[in-house]
Amino acid sequence: MLFYRTGPEGFYAAGDPAAGDPAAGRPAAARILFSDPLETAPADWELGRRVDLAAQPLLAPVVPGKIVGIGRNYAAHARELGNEPPAEPVIFLKAPSSLIGPAAPIVLPPESERVELEGEIAVVVGRRLCRADAVAARAAVLGVTCACDVTARDLQRRDPTFARAKSFDTFCPIGPGVRVGADLDDLTVTTRLNGELCQQAHVGEMIFPIPELLAYVSRMMTLEPGDLVLTGTPAGVRPLADGDHVEVEVSGVGVLSNPVEAWRQGG
Ligand code: ZN
Repeated sequence: MLFYRTGPEGFYAAGDPAAGDPAAGRPAAARILFSDPLETAPADWELGRRVDLAAQPLLAPVVPGKIVGIGRNYAAHARELGNEPPAEPVIFLKAPSSLIGPAAPIVLPPESERVELEGEIAVVVGRRLCRADAVAARAAVLGVTCACDVTARDLQRRDPTFARAKSFDTFCPIGPGVRVGADLDDLTVTTRLNGELCQQAHVGEMIFPIPELLAYVSRMMTLEPGDLVLTGTPAGVRPLADGDHVEVEVSGVGVLSNPVEAWRQGG
């Protein structure tokens, strides 16, 4: 089962795209979800009237208190940027204000001459995690969604931290929904730029598996329900240009689709 948030009010809705249109990645027949999916297991969800999600704008499915990014978690991607695979996870933060939902434009800021896509599996935390081990971390995962960890590559190389390069407004599209209870050992992420395949990897190719990443992060920062962990991008990152169209697909979740546009004064 997946949950979504629909605009403009931000109601939750629940459904399963297997029963609808898998290509569009959103179920044709979803229902309003009265329960808070961060607090209630799907078996106990209270569902209301039907909603047509294809006719409804979708918002980012969660509003995280923090967004933790993982760098260089696929060896081939580390090498394509000239880095060795790390001995322990590389972590950074993206500002929560960078979050956008499906179909919202990724805006290229004038401060960067090279903004790149990074298609990723995003993990949504379901229960508080503090200095957890990998077993507890696995049990605390609520589900997964698609994310694009948009990155100003030139600024990332120039700055002493990743803060600016990772945190421009619109640099964190997520969605369309959160797959609750996903199999963390069997997920595939696929990225397309203007319809052309550029990234594809299975979680089995990660240097540090998802439960280990969460356990590691929880040693520094208590992870709270709704927090997001972006688990790293595979090889095949691409620069973005005005007019481009980015799609990130995670198996069982659907397709996150966002247009790209240049920043314009007053736009
Ligand atoms: Zn990334």
